[in-house]
Amino acid sequence: MLQDKFGREIHDLRISVTDRCNFSCVYCKSADPKNYFPHRDLPTWDEFLRVARVLAGQGIRKVRVTGGEPLLRDGIVNFIGDLHRIRGLTDIAITTKGYLLPEMAAVLAATGPVRVTVSLDSTDPAKFARITRTPRSCEKVMAGVEAALAAGLKPVKVNIVLVRGFNDDEIVEFARLARRQDLIVRFIEFMPLDADHAWSRGVVITAKEIVETVNAVFPLVEIPRRSPSETALRYQFADGQGELGIIAPVSIPFCGQCSRLRLTADGKIRTCLFSLREHDVRHLVRNGATDDDLAQFFTRVVHQKEPGHRINEPDFVQPKRTMVYIGG
Ligand code: SAM
Repeated sequence: MLQDKFGREIHDLRISVTDRCNFSCVYCKSADPKNYFPHRDLPTWDEFLRVARVLAGQGIRKVRVTGGEPLLRDGIVNFIGDLHRIRGLTDIAITTKGYLLPEMAAVLAATGPVRVTVSLDSTDPAKFARITRTPRSCEKVMAGVEAALAAGLKPVKVNIVLVRGFNDDEIVEFARLARRQDLIVRFIEFMPLDADHAWSRGVVITAKEIVETVNAVFPLVEIPRRSPSETALRYQFADGQGELGIIAPVSIPFCGQCSRLRLTADGKIRTCLFSLREHDVRHLVRNGATDDDLAQFFTRVVHQKEPGHRINEPDFVQPKRTMVYIGG
């Protein structure tokens, strides 16, 4: 089992399989990215699988595949199938914008159980276009959510990053969606990881504000976390019809329970979303490291995991990379 020097056990791995994305969300990627990684810098599927296999041998149980937009990379479905076959991995999940799910949900479901999280920040086409800075339609993303459900990809979660002035007027609308029994809705606080450096405390809609807004229409009751490393605060509607979650890394940090490692789309291990330092595993993999060498490397890297993200400290430094490169 991988354990850091603060006693936190590491059992979740997030793999960003590409830095390409078909959207340019205001809270993430620049409107005009020019600095995509060259293809040769992206680990091959076999290289990703080797890292996942060694880490599974060290206690990683869950892999979340993300990006960029993971469904854009050729071979993604086979990769998910191969993850299912790694001994020790018991939970495979994907975070996607969902735009390609209408075409891909059924083939994904055929690989085995995959938990799907779809990022959908507005159900209003004009607002969706403003947030994502693309002409693509939110209707197709919503169709993607339904396609995932129809394909049996359960559970399906919808993630909403709230940004003041963009979509904070849709909190109650999304709470209404959370009352559907077949969907899990999660609000996420906007974190300082955006390419435009537009983040400020003023534009963060905090957990407190979300709860107050929903409570005024649909009374909520807080429910206990299922596991200590669960990131979301969970609330049930008082009338028993559904629940919603809030991921509040800014106003209620949960670093003390963090169980995650991240692998970036160019093969670097990050021990925190906000790490200022990365650890190059792609170089090792491409230069003859044995599985034992890799396992020792991961043990050393995990030992350097930061105690917390420091967003609320006066000397906080925003990492150079944004979520689209790190993997959300
Ligand atoms: N393209 C996929 C998607 O949109 O879901 C996967 C990658 S995206 C980087 C993963 C998640 O990170 C999304 O739910 C997105 O909303 C979230 N995200 C990106 N930048 C963020 C930020 N600055 N603060 C909070 N969440 C962010």
